[in-house]
Amino acid sequence: MISVCDKTNCTGCFACANICPKQCINMTADNEGFLYPVVNVSLCINCGLCEKICPLLNAKTASDGRETKAYAAISKDEKIRLASSSGGLFTLIAESILDKDGVVFGAAFDEDFNVIHTYTEEKAGLELFRGSKYVQSVIGETYKQAKEFLENGRTVLFTGTPCQIGGLYAYLGKNYENLITQDLICHGVPSPAVWRKYLEYRECVSRAGARGISFRRKTCGWKKFYVSFEFSNDTEYVSKLTDDPYMQAFLSNLCLRPSCYDCSFKTKHRQADITLADFWGIQNFLPEMDDDKGTSLVVLHSDKGINVFEKIKNEITFKEVPLDNAIAYNSSMVKSVDMPKKRKTFMNDIQIGPFDKVVKKYRSVSFYGKLKTKLKTILRKISRGI
Ligand SMILES: Cc1cc2nc3c(=O)[nH]c(=O)nc-3n(C[C@H](O)[C@H](O)[C@H](O)COP(=O)(O)OP(=O)(O)OC[C@H]3O[C@@H](n4cnc5c(N)ncnc54)[C@H](O)[C@@H]3O)c2cc1C
Ligand code: SF4
Ligand code: SF4
Ligand code: SF4
Repeated sequence: MISVCDKTNCTGCFACANICPKQCINMTADNEGFLYPVVNVSLCINCGLCEKICPLLNAKTASDGRETKAYAAISKDEKIRLASSSGGLFTLIAESILDKDGVVFGAAFDEDFNVIHTYTEEKAGLELFRGSKYVQSVIGETYKQAKEFLENGRTVLFTGTPCQIGGLYAYLGKNYENLITQDLICHGVPSPAVWRKYLEYRECVSRAGARGISFRRKTCGWKKFYVSFEFSNDTEYVSKLTDDPYMQAFLSNLCLRPSCYDCSFKTKHRQADITLADFWGIQNFLPEMDDDKGTSLVVLHSDKGINVFEKIKNEITFKEVPLDNAIAYNSSMVKSVDMPKKRKTFMNDIQIGPFDKVVKKYRSVSFYGKLKTKLKTILRKISRGI
């Protein structure tokens, strides 16, 4: 039976919990709020399936190095693009699947603003998935649900972080012809418990419950995005990404899942058919594709991915780019971030102290240090003309 001795390995993908024939694996939150498998040994029959399929125990994290194609792309639908984190490609891809009577899985807020995986069969339902939520989403039973749709012959688009896509393939044990997968360039995922603390803090300051949240509001453009909360008393909190304490903690890497600091899924060639991301640095390569409303980076890893892209070509403006140029400003495609030395004490203190004050205490060195390093890299690249 599965046991997680080293937390830097387990991504919390839920593959083991979904495969267990006795349903005796509970995904349980640790003291940092991340979910890990815990086996009810009295029900376990020692069938070994959980260990057999775990992508980390079996080193099944990357594809076999197929040729990839990369594009800068923008949805021609301005409304969708502005409601999306980058160029709005997710919605177009998802709509093309729903047009074929397909089903789309993705990450959404539930009624309490927890982030969970779920599915939709309707275009209106895509609104739930649109926009990045910077919290680890709970896969729950969605791998099982996806399998059921696949076995019934429905086309399924499953979207999520690279480790969630890895977990899905591990659970399914084969690549169904009617399955299309889309992952992201993934910086890492913050703890759901830290997110809850922040939500409580914002609601306390505003003296009202939240009724709408966006991590990526394009109020003043795509590059310098804003975080916004709407509250039930008709007030709003809107903050630049650099001033928002939750985004400071996230981008200072203070509250990421331990597996994110040594991620095995950060490879150029992916298991997913399609990888989506922000095309950071687009202004330096293709200024004509940058109006600061959001440009997507699309990486196609398989014939299925290429076919889907063909279907949406009329709805986008796009240009092919060499993959290495496309990820020059997006190291998260291939590289994990370093774990800050003070992460552990931050994770303890954030449970107790006022959210903004604790972040302020910890973020100072790592956050501004990171910004400075990024700025230096950008200036170096500009001076070299790349
Ligand atoms: C935690 C996280 C880290 C990211 N890190 C980077 C990065 O370092 N560099 C970069 O270029 N891009 C990163 N992205 C991806 C980027 O923010 C956009 O999501 C991507 O460009 C797609 O944008 P879009 O405009 O096509 O669609 P959108 O409508 O903005 O994206 C919706 C898609 O994101 C998925 N999604 C949203 N939240 C989550 C979540 N919590 N877990 C799993 N899937 C989720 C939805 O299921 C859907 O597939 C990250 C996204 C997330 C969620
Ligand atoms: S060994 Fe089999 S029964 Fe036991 S936890 Fe793993 S999958 Fe479940
Ligand atoms: S299958 Fe996923 S959740 Fe289970 S132990 Fe392996 S990585 Fe962790
Ligand atoms: S950084 Fe790696 S381990 Fe962390 S959520 Fe992203 S894909 Fe999963």
